[in-house]
Amino acid sequence: MSAKHADLLSAAHEAAALASMVCRAVQSRLDEVRSIAKDDKSPVTVADFASQAVVAHVLRERLGKIWLVGEEAAEMLRSPAHESHRQAALQAVRLAWPDADEDAMLEAIDVGAAHGQPGASDSFWTLDPIDGTKGFLRGEQYAVSLAFIEHGRPVVAALGCPNLSLDFGRDFGDADPRGSLYLAMLGYGVQQGPADDPRAEMTTMVRPVREATALIRACESVESAHTDQSASSRILDHAGGAGEPARLDSQCKYAVVARGQADAYLRLPTKKGYVEKIWDHAAGALVATEAGAVVTDIDGQPLDFGCGSGLAKNRGIVCADAAVHARLVAAIADLKVGAPS
Ligand code: AMP
Ligand code: MG
Repeated sequence: MSAKHADLLSAAHEAAALASMVCRAVQSRLDEVRSIAKDDKSPVTVADFASQAVVAHVLRERLGKIWLVGEEAAEMLRSPAHESHRQAALQAVRLAWPDADEDAMLEAIDVGAAHGQPGASDSFWTLDPIDGTKGFLRGEQYAVSLAFIEHGRPVVAALGCPNLSLDFGRDFGDADPRGSLYLAMLGYGVQQGPADDPRAEMTTMVRPVREATALIRACESVESAHTDQSASSRILDHAGGAGEPARLDSQCKYAVVARGQADAYLRLPTKKGYVEKIWDHAAGALVATEAGAVVTDIDGQPLDFGCGSGLAKNRGIVCADAAVHARLVAAIADLKVGAPS
């Protein structure tokens, strides 16, 4: 990997850590932000916009002109009806970007809004400024997910998990005061450290070897609309025995598999024709594969990040170490889960 990729990774680390810090600050005063904007979802709206502004700002400061395919666009925030959201977002942005003003913030958010249609030969960033909005609102797990795509695959990733403890003993529902952050570069493994400091020392993550006969402990969405939870348990039983599932929101699931705390992450389509967004998987998938896991869709096909903002050629996700992955894909085929009707 080139010096260029190392520079991209360093910029991504700073961007994801600062955005994680901004999200944590908003999450720590959920009720106050709700009362300013007078709607229940306002904290996630505010933090989403602030996070995207901070990431776009840091990447441009460090790297110059960038192509960013982000989840948010500033249009809503520009409307007079959303003055309170705009003010709250600016206040949050200033924690990481002190001299930002409204116009600069809105312009930075829109850096990530002009997607175009990236193709197989394009190089670009993709960002989910807050992945797992439901988890964010419950005070549980969410992620800041940033990756650089080249030739249809992620090559650099920074995954901020602001509430995910480095201590495996801590319950996923119990927000950690420092959180964790994962950096990955294709061919270079995974570095991990706390999510609250862009200058924190990172250490190499070593994934423990799995006991071959153990029950399969899988991660899946908390939201039953996002994955077929009943099919998961049938697949796991068929593949060798289901352990207790770990339910948590966001791409933190990829980190939990990467670090060997769970054996698999299953995302089984609940809706015919649903196309997964690239920003929901790019960073997490690279973290998991660089830790030694295999990530494909439910048909065992590699994920193709080179066909626009969706994984249009894939259905669902199977992430697990190689031996478990092969058993899961075979079980999905045997049980005809998600089969086109
Ligand atoms: P999770 O926290 O793993 O449940 O994933 C949250 C993500 O699920 C959101 O960022 C959405 O982009 C995505 N999502 C929304 N609707 C669906 C759906 N029907 N199937 C799968 N994913 C979805
Ligand atoms: Mg998301």
